[in-house]
Amino acid sequence: MVRAAGVGPEHLALLVDRAAADHSRALRGPSPRTPYPPTLARARRAHTAHRARRRRAASQEQGVISAFNMSKDTLSNFLNVVFAGYHNNPYHNFQHAISVLHACCLLLSAGNQSDGKRTLDPLHTLALLVAALGHDIDHPGVSNAFIVNSGSPLALCYNDESVLENHHAATTFTLLADKRNDILETLEPSERRIVRQLVCKCILATDMAHHSELVRQITRLGADHTAVEPVDVLTSFLHLADLSNPVLQFPLSKRWALLVCDEFSAQARCCAAAAACGAGLASAAAAAAADARSLRRRSARLSSACRSRRTTRT
Ligand SMILES: [Zn+2]
Repeated sequence: MVRAAGVGPEHLALLVDRAAADHSRALRGPSPRTPYPPTLARARRAHTAHRARRRRAASQEQGVISAFNMSKDTLSNFLNVVFAGYHNNPYHNFQHAISVLHACCLLLSAGNQSDGKRTLDPLHTLALLVAALGHDIDHPGVSNAFIVNSGSPLALCYNDESVLENHHAATTFTLLADKRNDILETLEPSERRIVRQLVCKCILATDMAHHSELVRQITRLGADHTAVEPVDVLTSFLHLADLSNPVLQFPLSKRWALLVCDEFSAQARCCAAAAACGAGLASAAAAAAADARSLRRRSARLSSACRSRRTTRT
């Protein structure tokens, strides 16, 4: 696995800008050449409604930096080590982290404006942004099932429970433990504990094994109209942002979908090779291959839906 090399702050800033610009472009109004499949159009319209709030989202992020008197050098160091911590995987790479970070900013912006006041304080906002940046750090490009079935040391370390997510959270805080990268250095010890708890909970909740439970919880909260705990808002925001690719402009959404397929396919090949050597990964290989095939079929269906809509219009 090739690791991202360390880069200078200028290069990093360029990368972040480019990824955010890609993501912003993807949220603009649908181009007449690339109509959306009907199933995605509704979700896409909801995102488009927040278009005007994008600038405010960016300034809110800067608000966090000034609220905690964050050193720009420390922030630059932190971003650099986070960038270097992501592998050059087809999908789980630094660009994905930035895409998720940007979607979190949009959700924060939308949430804060729904009732005319801020629903989350700067400490919560900071926790969400740190969690978004680190939520897939050091991802090896294979799933929890692969890691557990292959008896990896990581699985032993985390007792087979949300192995990757535990590792992402632990890696994020290992980076923050270095004073040069510690963007939380100005926080009071009690605030730091709160941020740590929130970041860990948010990252752990990105495990797809908890998806159904999280959806049930969000649905229940919405139906009851009861007060929502900040931690529930943050975990929901990060999970939503992590799965927000389908509401991007279709060409970009399709690109991400194909990249996920590539990653699954690589894992399936890896499993098959291991199974051939008697490593007991045959079922994991079959599951990964089936996932890749199902994603490719879904992507092909969306492409053909797009093509037929385009033909109908012309
Ligand atoms: Zn992710």
